[in-house]
Parts: sequence; structure tokens; C-alpha cells
Amino acid sequence: MCESRDTKTALKNGVRLRCPKCGKGKLFQSYLKVESNCDACGLDLTPQRADDGPAYVVILLVCHIAGVAMHLMYKPFVDNPLALALIVSIGAIVLSLTMLPPVKGAFVAIQWAKGMHGFGVAKSAN
Ligand SMILES: [Zn+2]
Repeated sequence: MCESRDTKTALKNGVRLRCPKCGKGKLFQSYLKVESNCDACGLDLTPQRADDGPAYVVILLVCHIAGVAMHLMYKPFVDNPLALALIVSIGAIVLSLTMLPPVKGAFVAIQWAKGMHGFGVAKSAN
């Protein structure tokens, strides 16, 4: 099983929440629950081990964005810190929930492209 797996294509498919191999089948059966098999090409997706990786990446990115947002919004909201905290908190929650599925899709795609965790030995094209 030495098929060529293009990492860039797999990543694009994963971020679009599609199967990393064919780009047609759905990657998730619910919000963050990965399908057991691709419904288009039949790729077994059970070897994926994204675990906490997507959450760590999302926290890292969202905290940096929220930090910059708080810095930029400090002066206009200096008299109303509660409103600032509320706006930044709600923004961080919405951004986190929005970013989690594509980041998890990217994790699964990288694992498939690199042949990690039982996805078989991969011969990367790049
Ligand atoms: Zn597929």
C-alpha cells in the first residue's frame, strides 16, 4: 500500500470538512464526530487520532486574536469594561466553535496524508 498522498490537497479537503482522500464524502457525521468511513470512496477514517490537538491549536489562535482585540478595543471601552469583556468573550466563543471543525479536519487530513496511526504507509508527494 504505497499510494501517493498529496498533503496540500488532503489539507484543503480536510479544512472543507471533506474526506482527505477523495474530497467528496463528508468527514464528520456530527459537529466533531468523524465518520467511520467515507461515503464516497469508502476510506476507513477510524484510525484518526486528532484527540486534543485541534482544541490546543484553536485555543492558541483564538487567545492571540482575543488579546489583540482587547488591546485595540481598550480605549473606546475604557469606561465600560464589562461590555468589553462581554464582547471579547462572546467573540472568542463563536470563533472557537467556528474554527474547531476545520482545524480537526486538517488534523485528520495530515494524519491520513502522512500515513499516521494506521492510515497505512504513505508516500508523500511533497
Ligand atoms: Zn473519500
